Amino acid sequence: MFRNAKNVGYYMIGKGSLSQLGDVLEKRRSSVKGPAVFFLDHFFRNQDLAKKLPLAPNDILLYVDTTEEPTTHGVDAYTAQVKEELHGALPSAMLAFGGGSTMDTCKCVGNLLTNPGKSEDYQGWELVKNPAPYKIAVPTLSGTGSETSRTGIVCNEAKNLKLGMNSDFTMFDQVILDPDLTVTVPRNQYFYTGIDTYMHCFESITGTYRNAVVDALSEKAIDLCKRIFLSKDMMSDENRELLMIASFLGGMAAGFVGTVHPVSAGLSMVLHMHHGLANCYALSVQEDIYPEYYRDFMTMIERQRIDLPSGICKDLEPAQYDALYEASIVHEKPLSNRLGPDFKKIFTKDNVIGRFKRM
Ligand code: ZN
Repeated sequence: MFRNAKNVGYYMIGKGSLSQLGDVLEKRRSSVKGPAVFFLDHFFRNQDLAKKLPLAPNDILLYVDTTEEPTTHGVDAYTAQVKEELHGALPSAMLAFGGGSTMDTCKCVGNLLTNPGKSEDYQGWELVKNPAPYKIAVPTLSGTGSETSRTGIVCNEAKNLKLGMNSDFTMFDQVILDPDLTVTVPRNQYFYTGIDTYMHCFESITGTYRNAVVDALSEKAIDLCKRIFLSKDMMSDENRELLMIASFLGGMAAGFVGTVHPVSAGLSMVLHMHHGLANCYALSVQEDIYPEYYRDFMTMIERQRIDLPSGICKDLEPAQYDALYEASIVHEKPLSNRLGPDFKKIFTKDNVIGRFKRM
């Protein structure tokens, strides 16, 4: 079977490109009725971003709490709130300003406006049946690739499961990449999130489910990440723009990840750790699985003076180690992508828990 791969419809790249959002939105409003729904990372609550946005009087503005990663419960609550404010209408556009958590929240709420039920009903592959409203991504933090990927990741606490709504309908229709928006990101956070695209791409390129296009995108994104994170200043004007592009390419390349993301998912589920930071810890104990990428990663951490204090899983309860293992080993597709169908012979319970204890 050949996969019929979809890419983002439109994109705009460059310093100051946010100023063209008004034109893009106006064109949309002239053909489709309904208010626009703006999702902003709660970081912008006390900033002046909202004042710069082309909001119409009946538009809806929502701040997304990104203290923790999106949960099924949280997404359902945002959906209920948006539905109530829409009074039965559909939005002309949905817009996300933030990093992966805000973009994924926007994507998942979009799916739930046109599909019945709850967010947990759509965790998996090709479960979304009806097209979602038109969506625009404006990343203010680079690296997750959510702006171009076909998934919206949510944590299901009750099922101890971190899994996305994988669907063509989850994708954004328009992306605006304006590097001015990442000037104020704290350095550690910039790194933890930015390096996510490096992880996606090396996990994809060292796996078994691949094609030439995905490989080309991944190779380019890995090159860009090396150029950025092995340079003197990862946050120079040029590097912030390059990281937006790497993230964009990485999101398009997102096919199947390997063993970093499953272990990272364990940390997110059990210790509520943010995705980017959890990835860093996951790779820090996989020198045997990805030796070359591990080496470069450790050099990047050192060169950019990034904090990664050890001992995070030192004194947990036995039940917590069990939960860490369970929430990691459940991701069979990515684990077998790197380790083969017999991955459980390598990733035994002792082996996996041993890795957590070394973090
Ligand atoms: Zn990731």
